[in-house]
Amino acid sequence: MLSNFAPLTEHFYQPSHFSSAVIFVSQLYPSYLDCLFKQLEVSNCHDIALVFENYFDSQLLRKNISTSGFENIEIYINKNYLKDLDEIIQIWESEPRINNIFIFNFSHDTIIVKDDLTGCSIIGVSQPFNVAQNYISNSEHYFQVTIDIYMEALRHNLFYNKKIFIDGEGTIYNDVNLTKEFGNITQINDLKALSENADFTWHWHIPKTEIDICKHCEFRYLCLDSRVPIKRESGGYYHELECNYNPFICKWKGENEYLTLKEVGVVSNSEEYTIDYEKLKTINNILWGS
Ligand code: SF4
Repeated sequence: MLSNFAPLTEHFYQPSHFSSAVIFVSQLYPSYLDCLFKQLEVSNCHDIALVFENYFDSQLLRKNISTSGFENIEIYINKNYLKDLDEIIQIWESEPRINNIFIFNFSHDTIIVKDDLTGCSIIGVSQPFNVAQNYISNSEHYFQVTIDIYMEALRHNLFYNKKIFIDGEGTIYNDVNLTKEFGNITQINDLKALSENADFTWHWHIPKTEIDICKHCEFRYLCLDSRVPIKRESGGYYHELECNYNPFICKWKGENEYLTLKEVGVVSNSEEYTIDYEKLKTINNILWGS
């Protein structure tokens, strides 16, 4: 039966220099937003997140979004700078490419409006915005399974690949978790060139299959995990923070009988990557039977 199917190609090609951009919009560079959007569009960037942390201008938002070619737009607004909630609802209702709008520093956590058909919403969040939080899955329900994701994950890091982040000062980074700067949007007029810069794209090419711990995990081809992979001097990549999933015993933190990596005899840090296979075997026999 299987022989009736053509072999699956592992070739992955995305016709874009960047696939997603996170932009902190500030009053320092609204006049550059138009130019920035155009550069991202030339790069075939289709997903964009706009963060209004210390400033908000609804006219600027309307004008730039209506003339842009992005397919998916997410917006984050600090409630302290938002004068008219009804206007935001109107913008969201009139522009189907805006998926979700998050209003942080809201009085309480709530769904303000929801489109029952698409599931997209305007959501009030009582917490201040904190983009720098490490995102680590805490359940398999967060994983999306598609052939495109699998193909991309074979050779790339799903979180960092083809991503670009621009902070409120206009400084350019690969992602908010990364500290290396790559110039300022007010001085660069060819963003596309960055996607060919080996330093800028360094994290793009570290798939989970090359990162210790993750390379043993059954979720390695679907996992969107924002922890920064670090190269160990003696070889291999490691993460400083431990994941919520222990792939050596197939248990999530919070599940019955969950054990940490250390407790099952696995060590991954800047110095070493070691696995105590005997201990692991004994523990798995107790947990799952032989
Ligand atoms: S161990 Fe790695 S691949 Fe597995 S869930 Fe955690 S971060 Fe994802």
